[in-house]
Amino acid sequence: MSERAITAVAAGTLYLVATPIGNLEDITGRALRVLREVDVIACEDTRHTRTLLNHFGITTKTLSYHEHNERERAAELAARIAAGASVAVVSDAGTPGINDPGFRLVRACVERGLNVVPVPGATAFVSALVASGLPTDEFYFAGFLPPRQHARRLRLAALGDLNATLVFYEAPHRIADALSDAREILGEREAAVARELTKLHEEIARGRLTDLVARFSGQTPARGEMVLVIDRRRIAVAEAGEQPTPDIAALVAAFESEGLDPRAALKRAARELGLNRDEAYRRLVAARAQAKRE
Ligand code: SAM
Repeated sequence: MSERAITAVAAGTLYLVATPIGNLEDITGRALRVLREVDVIACEDTRHTRTLLNHFGITTKTLSYHEHNERERAAELAARIAAGASVAVVSDAGTPGINDPGFRLVRACVERGLNVVPVPGATAFVSALVASGLPTDEFYFAGFLPPRQHARRLRLAALGDLNATLVFYEAPHRIADALSDAREILGEREAAVARELTKLHEEIARGRLTDLVARFSGQTPARGEMVLVIDRRRIAVAEAGEQPTPDIAALVAAFESEGLDPRAALKRAARELGLNRDEAYRRLVAARAQAKRE
C-alpha cells in the first residue's frame, strides 16, 4: 500500500473527489475516507450528495458550490483552504470539473499556491469510450454539442477532420438530431451511443451513424443519460452504398465567380438543385467540411 493511501486528509488542501455515475459500488475506498475526514464538502447539489453520504454513514458538513455561485464560492473556499481547512469538492455524478463545477475553485487554489489533490473515480466519457469498440489511442472529448442546429453543425464541421475518436455528452431529447447532423456533416462513420452506464438499463448501441439515427429516431423518445462516440474514419461512399451528393459547393463557387454575392449564389444553387434554402445551406456546410478533410 502506498504512503498516500494511508495518510490522513491534509490541512489546507482541496480534494477533487469523483463519485459514481449511477452505481454506488463505484465509489472508491479513498473517496469515502476523504469525504469522511475533510472539514467540509462543497457540493453541486447538497441534497443530492446528502443521499450519497447517508448511504455510507458520512456526516461531514456540506455547502453548495454550483454554476450560479461558483465565482464567489471559489474565492471564499480558497480563502478557507489558505487558512488551513481541508475541503472536498464533489459534483452530482462523476468527476468534478468535467462538465460540472470545479474548474474555478481549482484555479483559485492554484493561483494561491494551495494543495490540490485529485481523488479519481468514474467519468462517463472514459467508460463510454473504452467500451465503444472505437479506437482509444487518440480521442477528443468535446463536452456537449450546442443545442441549436446551426451552431451544432458548425461545431461538427470544425471537429470533422481531427484524427481522433470524437466523444460528446448529449441529452436524450437531442440525441436523434445530433446523430442525424453528425451523419450529414461528418459522413457515414462507425459510432456508439452509451446509455445509462453502470445503471440497471445500461446499453451500448454500436453501428454506423445511419443505423443509430434509425435506432434513436423512433416514436418513443430515447431516455437516460448518454455519451456519443464517433469514429475518426469516414466510411467510403462506395462502401456505405450512398449516392454521391450533388456538388453544391462547386455550384455556389461558380455562381460567386459570375458576380453573385454568397447569399444570392446559395439561393440560385438551391433552385438549380431543387432544394429549399435551409437544406441547401446544410449541404453547403457539409460539402465544405468534407472538402477540407480531403
Ligand atoms: N461530471 C460528469 C462526468 O464525470 O462524467 C459529467 C457531468 S455532465 C453535467 C452530465 C452528462 O454526462 C450527461 O448528460 C451524460 O451525457 C453524461 N453521463 C453522466 N452519467 C452518465 C451515465 N451513467 N451514462 C451515460 N452518460 C452519462
